[in-house]
Formats: sequence, structure tokens, C-alpha cells
Amino acid sequence: MSRAVWQTVLDEVELSVSRATFLTWFKNTELVSLTENEAIVAVPNIFAKRQFEVKFDTQIRELFEKQGQKPKLVSYVVQTSAKKPVISRETTITKSDTVSTTPLPRQALGSRASTLNPRYTFESFIVGSSNDLAYSACQAVSKNIGTKYNPLFLYGGVGLGKTHLIQAVGNEIMKGSPEKSVLYISSETFVNDFLESIRFKKKGFADKYRNVDVLIVDDMQFIAGKEKTQEEFFHTFNALHQANKQIIISSDKPPRSIPTLTERLRSRFEWGMSIDIQMPDFETRCAIVEAKAAVSDIELSRDVIEYLANSIKSNIRELEGALNQLLAYCEMRGLEPDIATVEGLVGNIRYSRPQHISPKQIIDRTARHFQLSSVEICSEKRDKHIVTPRQIAMYLLRSELHLSFPKIAQELGRKDHTTAIHSVEKIERAIKLDLLIREQVAEIREKLYA
Ligand code: ADP
Ligand code: MG
Repeated sequence: MSRAVWQTVLDEVELSVSRATFLTWFKNTELVSLTENEAIVAVPNIFAKRQFEVKFDTQIRELFEKQGQKPKLVSYVVQTSAKKPVISRETTITKSDTVSTTPLPRQALGSRASTLNPRYTFESFIVGSSNDLAYSACQAVSKNIGTKYNPLFLYGGVGLGKTHLIQAVGNEIMKGSPEKSVLYISSETFVNDFLESIRFKKKGFADKYRNVDVLIVDDMQFIAGKEKTQEEFFHTFNALHQANKQIIISSDKPPRSIPTLTERLRSRFEWGMSIDIQMPDFETRCAIVEAKAAVSDIELSRDVIEYLANSIKSNIRELEGALNQLLAYCEMRGLEPDIATVEGLVGNIRYSRPQHISPKQIIDRTARHFQLSSVEICSEKRDKHIVTPRQIAMYLLRSELHLSFPKIAQELGRKDHTTAIHSVEKIERAIKLDLLIREQVAEIREKLYA
């Protein structure tokens, strides 16, 4: 019973905090008992205990209450190993633990809304000279849907905030005009959907993309070289544009530099506004580190912030990753994130960043985690105990190395990349809903960088 209650708490918390915060603090927590008098939550260390007492207590109480649970006291106890915590008081499971508690139904998210990550908002985006134009254009679009810049074309290198910004437009529109339908997809999804609609003669493809008020297509570069899909997108584009529907596109390069983009599509993309996001300057990097630490309620000293900002210059995702590793490291060892710690660690972080991990290592690690061999993972076998690990390996190849889907398929000895797309999407969803999968993925990832 308490398991279901806690799982519902975790699900809701996950929707409201950053992924880093969630993994850092909520992983390895457990509701060990729940009575009318007291709820006892086990947390992994003293640092987490303090965070829960100071920061998360109110939210957790509220989430208990939403489920009809009103313990007078909520205590947090440290549970160091997998063993049950030592609780000094006698705890008895009483009535309220056995009365029926129906967990709240999972928030009914429409499929459209759910493709947007609620964390990607304008508020959580730090503006600096490298991205202020892009930021203003995105804000303008969210206030003048379909009329100001159409299409809005945002381009720039990896990890610089394109996805964050274009999703922020979607989230802002959903907030201000909930009646509008916003569809966010990666261009790979478009390609895949289109191919499927042909292969299986599925109907409804055109409608799905043409009956929206806002179409956001991320990573348009993946459409390069796919002529039939480009033609289809051209028609979609025209239909939407003529109806004054908003189109937002991101890509790693400006339209003129995407190889094998058909001329007519290129000229359409240049109709509206094209804006780049550049590499963030030092000030912006510092502000980002500071803001992200603040989300975890941690105040870093100036020298630590500057050290991090100086170490990772060209990719905000990596900067975030380094900060998270620092916070997790300090948390595990009960250290303060001071300059000595960061100096000792950042070298390691840099040497263990994704570019130093090979696809083979990911496959081996995942196999080993599930007591399988890499040969089994790469085999054709469809047994359930192999399929899920295989999907997790695909997911990690994507999340850690950003490999393309065809490349992922190839690493796993497969020809068809649609399986890779489905596997990655499946694990992405599972991570949100299934605590076990979430933990397994986090553990493998941790070992990869250990
Ligand atoms: P891209 O799509 O350009 O590869 P993302 O939008 O995925 O990059 O950004 C990578 C990570 O960096 C995300 O977690 C995002 O929230 C964060 N990020 C990027 N730019 C900023 C910014 N200016 N302020 C706050 N977070 C940012
Ligand atoms: Mg992106």
C-alpha cells in the first residue's frame, strides 16, 4: 500500500522538478511505513535527509494529502544500504495503512501536450548575448501566433538550447491559449510517420500534421537527403502557412547550409525569420551554473561557478552534466562543493564525458548489468529478458552518444532503424512511469562514468 502511495508522490514530484533534482534526491527513497500518526520516509544519506526536511517536506505532505493521507508527522530516516532502516521507535502498521487508498489517476495528458517537456519554459531559460535574439523571436512568436515570424527557423550547435527554446514557445502557448493545438516533433518522427503511412497505407498522416495551430519540428537536418519526405513536408508547410498556422523549426545549420535540402523547401524556410543561437559567453555560462544549482537549493561560491564555466565552454548540456556530477559526488560523500572538490573532479568529468565512451562500452555495460552477454543483446532473440535490456542499450546509445537511429540499429546488428526509434521512445516513456526501469538506466549510466 505505502508503495503505491509513494510511487504516486514520486510521479508527481517528477513532473515538477528538474530531472537532475529528481535523480539526485528522490532516487533510492522509500516509504517504509505510513500510519495516521507518522509517515517514515527512508532516504539514502544525511545530506538528502536535510534536503527533504528543509526543502521537500511541504510538497510531500501536500502530495500525501491529495491521496487522502494525513499523517501528523513525516520523518525522514537515513537508510544507508539496501537494508531496512533502523528505526528507534517501534513502528506498527495500523489501520490507515490498510484502508484502501486509491492512487490518483495519472494526470490525463493529451498526446500533444505530453510531447512538450514542462521544464522547458522561458522562465528557466537564461538569456545572454549568445541567445537573446533567439529568445526574443521565440517570445514574439508565442504572443503573435502565425502572424509575426512564420516560419521561425532557429539554428545552432548541439546543446545550446534550441530544443529548450522552441518547446518554451509551445509551453507558453499552451498556458495562454489552451484551446490551441500544439504539436512538437523531431523531424525524425515526421520521416518515420511518413514512411509508415506509405508502407502500411495508413490514413490520417496529413491530417495529423495539418490540423494543428502550431507545428514545431526539431532537428530539421535529419530530413536532409530524404526527398519524398521533403516533398510531403513541403505540402504540410504550405497548408499550414496558408491557414496562418505557426511553424517553428530548429536545425543545426541555417537552411542554406543543410545539404540536399530541396530548393523549394529551402526558400520556404527563408520566408520568415532565421536566427542563430551561438555558444554562450562566460557570463551566461556562469549564470546558467548558478541558476541550475539554485534549483537544487545549493548556493555555489563564485570561484566554483567560474571554474565550471571555464572548464566547459561549448555545450550547455555538458555544463549541466558537470554540475550534476559535482553535486551528486558531494552528496554521496557528504562534501561541500568547494573549489578543492571541483578541481579534483572536473578533470575526471572532462575525461569521462561521452566522447570517451564507445558504443561497445554501452552495450557491454548494459549486458553485464542484466547478466547477459553482448552477443545475446545483439542477437535476434525476442525473449522478454533480452528485449528490455536491448531497448535500454539503444536508449543509452542515443542519450549518451547522440547516435543517429540508423547507427544505433547498426551497432545492435540490425538493418531496420525504426525498431531503434521505437525502442528509444519506449524507454523514454518507461523512465517516467516505471521506477525500476528508471533506476536500472540510472545505474548503468553511473557505472559508465564511474
Ligand atoms: P539543443 O537542442 O540546442 O541541442 P537543448 O535545448 O537540448 O539544446 O539544451 C541542452 C540543455 O541545456 C537543456 O537541459 C537546456 O535546458 C539547457 N540549456 C540550454 N541553454 C540554456 C539557457 N540559456 N538557460 C538555461 N538552460 C539552458
Ligand atoms: Mg535539441
